[in-house]
Order: sequence, then structure tokens, then C-alpha cells
Amino acid sequence: MDYRTVLAEVAEAAGPVASSGKVADYIPALARADPGAFGFALCDITDGGRVEGVGEWQARFSIQSVSKVFTLALVLAADGDALWQRVGKEPSGSPFNSLAQLERDQGVPRNPFVNAGALVVTDRLQTLTGDASGTLRDFLRAETGDHTIDFDRHVAASERRHGHRNAALAHLLADHGRLVNPVRTVLHHYTRQCSLTMTCQTLALAAAFLARHGLRADTTRLLTRSEAKRINAVMLVGGTYDSAGEFAHRVGLPAKSGVGGGIIAVIPGRCSLCTWGPALDGHGNSVAGTAALDAFTTLTGWSVF
Ligand code: GLU
Repeated sequence: MDYRTVLAEVAEAAGPVASSGKVADYIPALARADPGAFGFALCDITDGGRVEGVGEWQARFSIQSVSKVFTLALVLAADGDALWQRVGKEPSGSPFNSLAQLERDQGVPRNPFVNAGALVVTDRLQTLTGDASGTLRDFLRAETGDHTIDFDRHVAASERRHGHRNAALAHLLADHGRLVNPVRTVLHHYTRQCSLTMTCQTLALAAAFLARHGLRADTTRLLTRSEAKRINAVMLVGGTYDSAGEFAHRVGLPAKSGVGGGIIAVIPGRCSLCTWGPALDGHGNSVAGTAALDAFTTLTGWSVF
């Protein structure tokens, strides 16, 4: 397919809407992002992993919760289904950092993409590797061939200083006996993984194993076909905060968003996508990014439905 026309129309759909959103500022270091920035990239796995993009698709941004997809994949690759004893797979219907929900559910997080769930996944990856965030960074470097991918120390420190709610979630998990490693260690690796900076180009490449049904860039198998399906399924029901229903309605793809304004999305067997626009809607999803993915699936007719 000649993507140029499609990508130009996608950028046109995203451009005007960004001003209706707001850049996340609860992590002060994120507030500096330009609300009008926009990028979109597509990695076509049917064409050797060719990446095409539009706008600022090679600009770096803070991946934040998009990182949760990759830590989940690394833990599933090592542990298989055992993880699902510790973390649920249901939509949350509550804010991503809800303490009330975690307490009601006796310390079993609703899914791996709410913050409590991601803390449990990171705890497990730490036990498995001894360096959860370093293992994640090395995986992302290997999948993309970009060895400059790294943590943003300023963003990580800013989140550590202001992350009282995540600290509370980690302590609540520990109180329920759900963490193996010390709270301090888990929070350290969690904030580091969220602070990684990448581009739409490299995130589309990094997510391509989900389009390839579990195969890595070097064609070795990371996940079984059904594990890859499960990650895509959990992304569909819980990847876009508590508006996953609205997102599925508009876009029709498994996706994971982050408060840095990035969203990755997957069309199994065909391509992986990443879009970025720092201005967020009331649920925490990029306004421009959602509009771009909506336009992309409408123009191409590609979705999982
Ligand atoms: N580091 C952020 C937090 O825990 C990630 C949130 C997000 O992107 O959803 O608050």
C-alpha cells in the first residue's frame, strides 16, 4: 500500500483537535511538552518491518505507561500463565491509580495496565532478572536497533518526588502480601521504566512482536501465539484507561496509551502503530493520537472487528 496519502489525511484529522486537551502536569517534568506536537508511525510487518511516518514521528517523548506492555510481555515470556494468579484481566472502570479499587479487590489488581497491576508485573520482572528496568531498556534497544534508548533521569526523579499515590499503591500491595521485592526497589524500577524516552518510529518497531503473533524482530519467538493474543486482548479491554469502551468504539484496535501522550496500537498479522500528541483528554488518552488512530482505521478499513 502507498501510505503517503493515508498518513497525510491522518495528520490532517489530528491537527485541529489537540488544543482541546491538556498536557499531564501531575508529574511536573512532563508539563514542559508542547501540546501541539504530533507524530504517527506505522511498522508494516508484511513488508519486512518497513516504517513510515508523518509529523514528528522521530521526536522523543516519555513513554510512561506504554512501557507496561513490554514488561508484561517479558514476564509472560518467562512465566507463562502463572502471572494471571497475581493480576486480573478485567477492565477497571476506575482511574488507573485507584487505591479504593485495589483495597476492595484484596490487593489483586484488575489488570496489568492499571498502576497497581504494573507494579506487580515489575516486581515479578525484578525477581526474574535482578534489574527490571535495565532488562526492559535492553529489550527495547534490541527490538529497534536503537542503542540510544534510555531513561530520562529528570522525569524519573520528578515522578519519584511527586508519586505519593504510586507509593501508596505499592505499600497497599505489600500489605496484602502481593510484592516479593521491597517497595522501594519496585518503585525505583517502575519510575525508571516509565521515564524511558522513545519515538513513534521506535515504539512502532518495538510493538511489532504483537503484530507478528509473538515473534521478535530477529524472528526468534518471545511469546506463544496465544500469549500474544492475550496481551492484545487485555490492551483492548484495559489499555486506554477507563475509556477502553469508547476507544474500541472509535478505533477498534488493541492499544496502550501513556500520560506522555503516546499510544501504541496493533493490527495482528499486518502492522503496529504508534502515535504521539501530549495533550490528553479527561481520561488520560492523547486527543490527537486518538483522532489519528480513528482516522487511520476509518481510511484503511483495518481493525480487529
Ligand atoms: N508513571 C506514570 C504514573 O504512574 C504513568 C501513568 C500513565 O502513563 O498512565 O503515574
